[in-house]
Amino acid sequence: MREAVIVLGAGVVGLSLARELRHRDIEVDLLDSRCCGSGATRAATGVLKAPPHTSTPFFQLRQQGWEQWPVLAAELEQETGIEVGYHCCGGIDIRDATQRDPQRAVAALPQIGGEVRVLSATDLEQLLPTVQRRLIAGLFIEHEARVDPKALVAALRQSCLQSGVRIHEQLGPIEIVPVGTDEIDLVGRVPSHLGGSRQRRVVLAAGWESATALLDMPPAPLPLDPVRGEAIALDIPAPPHIVTFDAKQDSIQDEAGNRSRFSWIPAPDGKSWLGNSVGTEQPQRSPSAQPTELGLEQLLAAAQSLFGDSVRKRVIDHWAGIRPKSMRHGGPLLGSWPGRPQLWIATGHYRTGLLVGPTTARMVAEAMLDGVPIPQSFSIPD
Ligand SMILES: Cc1cc2nc3c(=O)[nH]c(=O)nc-3n(C[C@H](O)[C@H](O)[C@H](O)COP(=O)(O)OP(=O)(O)OC[C@H]3O[C@@H](n4cnc5c(N)ncnc54)[C@H](O)[C@@H]3O)c2cc1C
Repeated sequence: MREAVIVLGAGVVGLSLARELRHRDIEVDLLDSRCCGSGATRAATGVLKAPPHTSTPFFQLRQQGWEQWPVLAAELEQETGIEVGYHCCGGIDIRDATQRDPQRAVAALPQIGGEVRVLSATDLEQLLPTVQRRLIAGLFIEHEARVDPKALVAALRQSCLQSGVRIHEQLGPIEIVPVGTDEIDLVGRVPSHLGGSRQRRVVLAAGWESATALLDMPPAPLPLDPVRGEAIALDIPAPPHIVTFDAKQDSIQDEAGNRSRFSWIPAPDGKSWLGNSVGTEQPQRSPSAQPTELGLEQLLAAAQSLFGDSVRKRVIDHWAGIRPKSMRHGGPLLGSWPGRPQLWIATGHYRTGLLVGPTTARMVAEAMLDGVPIPQSFSIPD
């Protein structure tokens, strides 16, 4: 064994990181305050999309994530026998702007790869027979996929256990505190064999709670905001493709147009999910991961705009999760903490943790162990 690392947080990011490190022969203890995947990862709706272009480091990261996903799904199935529900099902874009000018929407996807073609009203009627909204035009986008988030957690957890990661769950919150001028220590119900953790490297991958785990760490707070996202399950057969659409509502203040964007998604059980794209900013100290009445009403209004009023009776589940949003421009927060070489960060994946989490885990492992530089735009602000 080369060395030992503690990973805090067992969502898609922490589990992927623990697996990566273990595959590099590192001794790994993975600690979670609750249980594996109990944060945003389980609440995700499992959409993976190739980026429209690759002209910034974050879009390049998304492209890498997109390309690595089929390999990861196959590896996990081979290692564990668990099928994570990866399916490159393609997407249908029927956003308002796309319907107005589909050719322009095609032009906005210069490097997405795969097939992109305009769909007529007749094509859409045939592809989406349960949709009652009048559709004029849309796009088919081949490079969109979906995965089953719960199966993903089960497979990553199993892969970690099989390779020898020690997983410790239900520990309650663990904090990281500064010691002296350049060291750290862990405070909380840390397993006793990790008592001398001051010598070990620690990676904080605790989703939105990474900020609260580091409250007293100089030089500055981790720039991370909690943003709630909600979704519903519908007793409506899965669409053949992921459908992205707009549903403007008075209760949604939306200057950029992103908050009125929703997705109707083929669920792993053959029924369907419907989720919003952006979600609601939450109070920083005590955000709630409980689904809300307002969230349900907004999702229902979006569903009604596709399926009519009777859809209310077809809601079979409603849930929420807190997305970790990095508050500095450029993508997730990855790398070592300024002035504390023992402490590494892997969070801030916001809306794309399933897509890029496994790729960022590899980046962090390579940076920690081999000194491979992480793009500057993801680094922790000093
Ligand atoms: C409704 C919704 C839909 C989404 N849909 C998609 C999607 O379609 N595609 C996509 O790519 N992304 C999606 N996301 C975003 C994605 O879920 C997140 O980016 C991703 O799950 C973040 O993973 P994480 O491992 O960083 O955090 P989390 O999954 O939140 O995991 C953090 C873990 O850390 C633990 N923890 C917390 N504090 C501590 C502590 N102090 N010590 C130890 N452990 C701690 C928690 O218990 C938790 O298990 C969605 C999110 C939501 C809410």
